[in-house]
Amino acid sequence: MPKQYRLLGGEPVLRRACRAFLGHPAIGGVRVVIHPDDRVLYEAAVEGLGLPEPILGGESRQESVLNALAELSEDPPRAVLVHDAVRPLVGAALIDRVVAGLETHAAVLPALPVADTLKRAAPGTRQVESTLDRTDLHAAQTPQGFAFAPLYDAHLKARAEGRAVTDDAALAEAAGLATLLVPGERAALKLTVEEDFAMAEALIARTPARTAIGQGFDVHRFGPGDSVMLCGISVPHTHGLVGHSDADVALHALTDAILGALGAGDIGTHFPPSDPRWKGAASARFVAHAMGLLAARGGTLAHADLTLICERPKIGPHAAAMKASLGALLGLPPERIGLKATTTEGLGFTGRSEGIAAQAVVTLSLPADPLPDR
Ligand code: MG
Repeated sequence: MPKQYRLLGGEPVLRRACRAFLGHPAIGGVRVVIHPDDRVLYEAAVEGLGLPEPILGGESRQESVLNALAELSEDPPRAVLVHDAVRPLVGAALIDRVVAGLETHAAVLPALPVADTLKRAAPGTRQVESTLDRTDLHAAQTPQGFAFAPLYDAHLKARAEGRAVTDDAALAEAAGLATLLVPGERAALKLTVEEDFAMAEALIARTPARTAIGQGFDVHRFGPGDSVMLCGISVPHTHGLVGHSDADVALHALTDAILGALGAGDIGTHFPPSDPRWKGAASARFVAHAMGLLAARGGTLAHADLTLICERPKIGPHAAAMKASLGALLGLPPERIGLKATTTEGLGFTGRSEGIAAQAVVTLSLPADPLPDR
């Protein structure tokens, strides 16, 4: 799962980053640039924050920023802050410093002095060649602040010239904009490797967690068709499943399990079958909604366990694909997902092959007390 959608202190990294800006009085609005494939993850991560439509990114970070600037150019702001979503612990004081710098400069760069001694290795070797003078060296962070018009111009120019850079300050620099350095924050670290997540978790003061267990059960009957949706995977079969949505009985049970553990009603209250919007809907969307509610409570999913009950189709050949699909939906590694299938020995409605039943159990970890700003 992309780092910006992983959970940190029970909250998606992206959501935490957005909240840092949404809660700041100098910020007029937040736009998120996402990968087109991450739509479902995005919707779940920012559920309830009231953000406008996300902007779709490009092939590179630079292109993604340009896409966002192009969108903003329709009603250009005076200034813009460009931030890496994987720096979720950015503080209000850092945002203050960047915004204040924009009063006098067209570009503002938060940075930390380089504390470690820098060594250059002989090219392609592990052999130290020289020691660099670290005086006047700074490690760049984000948010980087810019007057809107010159940054947009610099981006357009770089694209026209086919020039690639790693951050926006480099473009400002190339365009000859005076760039002010302001002090960065160690806490605004970029979540790059696994160790960074552990450090960031440690930085977040957490209330003790409570555990909640939810269970869900669902049944759909067979009808005409040549495939059934199970765990977000289309499985060829002699029949289809009848339902208002895509009739993914497994994802319905799973959604109900999450909603149940949250005490948040059931799938029918959130997605009434009478609502034409959910006709033929991909049930992954229902799961994402429940995950969004969980994230909004500052909770995390610890595990999910599903049992599919039917005589046919055979689940075994599709189990790996189903598990991968569940892992992507839930943001869980394989060892935290149980997926089992059983027949009922020819007994009952499943035994008569009239339909498929599914059971799900989930374990959630939730903050012990409600967090008021979520
Ligand atoms: Mg159902």
